[in-house]
Parts: sequence; structure tokens; C-alpha cells
Amino acid sequence: MTWLRSKVVKTRKKHLCHGCQRTFPKGSKLHSCTNADCSYIWTIYLCPACDEIIPILISLYGNDDEIDEGYVINYMNDENFKGTPEKYLESLKREIKHDAHELSQDGR
Ligand SMILES: [Zn+2]
Repeated sequence: MTWLRSKVVKTRKKHLCHGCQRTFPKGSKLHSCTNADCSYIWTIYLCPACDEIIPILISLYGNDDEIDEGYVINYMNDENFKGTPEKYLESLKREIKHDAHELSQDGR
């Protein structure tokens, strides 16, 4: 899958975030991503948290062939994560830091 174009837009109507399935009212700042897969082109909207989470999940799990609706929320459910996507992003960032410094202490 190729991200053709990703830009931050101020929405003119309410949109569902493709990653976490939350609805954002009009006037929200969302990332509009236009994608191409073979001859198929479509646009999805992502909230700022999901826009950061998805590349992290792809780099962690290497699953970049399908960004399904609810991609982020599915990972959160799989990991039994109770909280907002923003919190999930924080915990993913901690995980990455932890992996990078595997020999240093956990910090907890
Ligand atoms: Zn989202």
C-alpha cells in the first residue's frame, strides 16, 4: 500500500477516524490520506493519534498490506488495552523506547 498524499485538513463536515472509529465533528483537524492500491484510489481520515499509531504498528508488526477500518482499535482490543488512542500511542512510544534500550532498566 502506498500513501499517495497525507495532509492535515480542517474538516468541513464530521468524519469517522479510519483507525479508531471515533467521530470527529466538523472543524476538527484530521489527516486526510489518499491511498492507491493497484487501480483503486480512496481517501481516509485519521485523527492525529491514529496518524502516528499506524506507522508505529506497521513498523512493529510489519503488516502494511491492509489498513482496515478500525485498524487501531482492533490492535487495542487484541492487546486488551483500555483507554484512548492517545494513551495507546504513549504506551507504544514507551514500548519502542524500551526495545531500543533493552539492556537498560524498565523505568517502572
Ligand atoms: Zn483515530
